[in-house]
Amino acid sequence: MDGEVTSRNFIQQEIDNDLKEGKYKAVVTRFPPEPNGYLHIGHAKSILLNYGLAKEYGGTFNFRFDDTNPTKEKTEFVESIISDIKWLGADFGNKVYFASDYFDDMYEAAKKLIQKGKAYVCDLTADEIRQYRGTLTEPGKNSPYRDRTVEENLQLFEDMKNGKFEDGAKVLRAKIDMASPNMNMRDPVIYRIARMSHHRTGDKWCIYPMYDFAHPIEDAIEGVTHSICTLEFEDHRPLYDWVVRELEYECPPRQIEFAKLYLKNVVTGKRYIKQLVEDGIVDGWDDPRLVSIAALRRRGFTPESIKMFMELSGVAKSQGESDYAMLEYCIREDLKMKANRMMAVLDPVKLVIDNYPEDKVEYFDIDNNQEKPEAGSRKVEFGRELYIEREDFMEVPPKKYFRLFPGNEVRLKGAYFVKCVDFEKDEAGNVTVVHCTYDPETRSGSGFEGRKVKGTIHWVSAKSAVDAEVRLYENIVDEEKGKLNSDGTLNYNPNSLTILSNCKLESAFRDAHAGDAFQFLRHGYFCVDVKDTTDEKLVFNRIVSLKSSYKPNAQ
Ligand code: ATP
Ligand code: MG
Repeated sequence: MDGEVTSRNFIQQEIDNDLKEGKYKAVVTRFPPEPNGYLHIGHAKSILLNYGLAKEYGGTFNFRFDDTNPTKEKTEFVESIISDIKWLGADFGNKVYFASDYFDDMYEAAKKLIQKGKAYVCDLTADEIRQYRGTLTEPGKNSPYRDRTVEENLQLFEDMKNGKFEDGAKVLRAKIDMASPNMNMRDPVIYRIARMSHHRTGDKWCIYPMYDFAHPIEDAIEGVTHSICTLEFEDHRPLYDWVVRELEYECPPRQIEFAKLYLKNVVTGKRYIKQLVEDGIVDGWDDPRLVSIAALRRRGFTPESIKMFMELSGVAKSQGESDYAMLEYCIREDLKMKANRMMAVLDPVKLVIDNYPEDKVEYFDIDNNQEKPEAGSRKVEFGRELYIEREDFMEVPPKKYFRLFPGNEVRLKGAYFVKCVDFEKDEAGNVTVVHCTYDPETRSGSGFEGRKVKGTIHWVSAKSAVDAEVRLYENIVDEEKGKLNSDGTLNYNPNSLTILSNCKLESAFRDAHAGDAFQFLRHGYFCVDVKDTTDEKLVFNRIVSLKSSYKPNAQ
């Protein structure tokens, strides 16, 4: 549109330039996870960024397992990663690429470097290689094996491949510059001998390529144009460029780095999540307290809310931290119009309406979502015995308490006014029943204007209530004291999970299915747990409470 100013992030600006200069004709991006754990919210950022760019430029988004390092890889993770990406809505054309499919190409590429005199087989041990590498302030020393002939190198490399040497006995190194100020350029190792079974190639190979060598080749083979990765690879970019240049690819890909997504005081790193799982602190990788994609989905976050969060948090060139409260804001925004608002009593106490006929039942029409008339309404059963929240009654109310206490009248949401006339307690002093009387004149929808009450509380008919377990979550680490203890261990919040096992829900919840999200009036947004809900028992996760500390565009 004329005069419209759209702010382009720095990656879009780079791509705009590349296209303008004719460097690339189309845009191809990729997301290359290692199948060594579940994806987390940080990966979601990378997925949505790469997919979003491909979509914006009418290009292609490749999804590729970076499975060149068999030690840590597990087939178990392959399936979960695929389902997470599908769930996020990143369309990869249902084609899954595997870096391991290129092992032959990588082997040939290594031979090409040897032939050009750009790679050599080195017999130094790992320790010696480290010593020879020098430091940030001192240049390294050339390996005594650096000047082997092309023929000798080709033979030795083939022997490496054919299993003639022990693991670690030799490596193939790029021949670049031992005095380079960039340590990554000091003749980096590009192939190592390691007898490890690979999840796809089995025992075909006993040599495996190193990441910095393999990655640019994978990108080049697939015709990736913009290889977008996180900042820790910035110092590796010269090596990336060296590899694609020396291998003489026709249209070499380029690497662009952006800052990782970090959430303040939230455990994100694979290492910590693994520790939580292994220590039994959480119930697997999809425990709703975690921010793995599986956990976010189980908790009740939607792909739309995660997309919105990524847009709000932006794409940065320098490292920062985002607020979990912003993610909460996004899911509230997304569910505001999507979720029906229903009544659920989490900590129930009986309310008996003494003057309401014992066998009488009536039904009230209550809006499913007051902000969305097209969501319609539902019939809610009302009777003499109800459940209300324990905290909605007080024997001795503090100032400004407008809910039930002896002598006070409140509105039962969508039904009648009731006035507290008495209550019962057990031996321990806990309130067991609240007695009220109702005023038939005040029936909701009757236009009653006789008097006003200050409090409205929600309720559930005792006769038709649906039982449920509700799980409330807090941050798994202590936010006040910080995520880590001084010894580097995680500082757990003992209250990260609260299980309410005696909740009473209105009867419409009988139709709830695993994964469905609702607003529980006054309580927040909740989702039917997909893992622990059974035909006999409904389990809900609180996604987020209604109150927010986050304001978009707040200064
Ligand atoms: P972790 O640091 O959690 O172990 P990783 O970097 O080892 O993750 P990979 O499977 O190698 O995980 O990551 C796949 C892609 O996701 C990479 O391109 C990586 O840069 C990107 N990525 C990983 N973590 C984040 C993050 N926090 N924010 C944005 N992108 C990320
Ligand atoms: Mg990694």
